[in-house]
Amino acid sequence: MARSRRTDDWGFPRWRPYGSGNAAAEIRLCDRHGCGKPGDRPAPKAPNRPERWYFCEAHAAEYNANWDYFAGLSPEEAAAREASEDAQRTYKRAAHWEWGGPGDGSRSRAELDALAVLGLESDADMVAIKAAWRAAAKENHPDVAGNDAAKAERFRAVQAAWDVLSAADAARTAATG
Ligand SMILES: [Zn+2]
Repeated sequence: MARSRRTDDWGFPRWRPYGSGNAAAEIRLCDRHGCGKPGDRPAPKAPNRPERWYFCEAHAAEYNANWDYFAGLSPEEAAAREASEDAQRTYKRAAHWEWGGPGDGSRSRAELDALAVLGLESDADMVAIKAAWRAAAKENHPDVAGNDAAKAERFRAVQAAWDVLSAADAARTAATG
């Protein structure tokens, strides 16, 4: 069963063909930066908002663990609880774990994680981001690092962070014209 494509751009949906020999099938990827697993576990993006992240099982668990309100609940249970009026009030108590953060206040958790990967503050601009990405990518590039597994992993993480940040910046630019 194919999940319908979302056209409302609340972040940076990541799609790719999935499954060998089945080029037509596309699945949503986990929204956690750097994760290549299918993202089939919806999770509310922010309190009292309809937008959803889609995580893999492991990252949904990580997300839930960081958000007390949904701790121990399955995605279905969490969705049901969210739907109740009572929950909408309780929900606000978890607002300290709001998406975004300092800086311009519009960056998602994934973006903040990506900035941390690059060793940047939450208010870093695209010039600083690009510079940090290029430096880290160069330093850890397989052509330079050879078979160093730790550097290969670092290179992968740095590239994933760049993907998250550049896509988010492009989406934001498109949204604000
Ligand atoms: Zn994941």
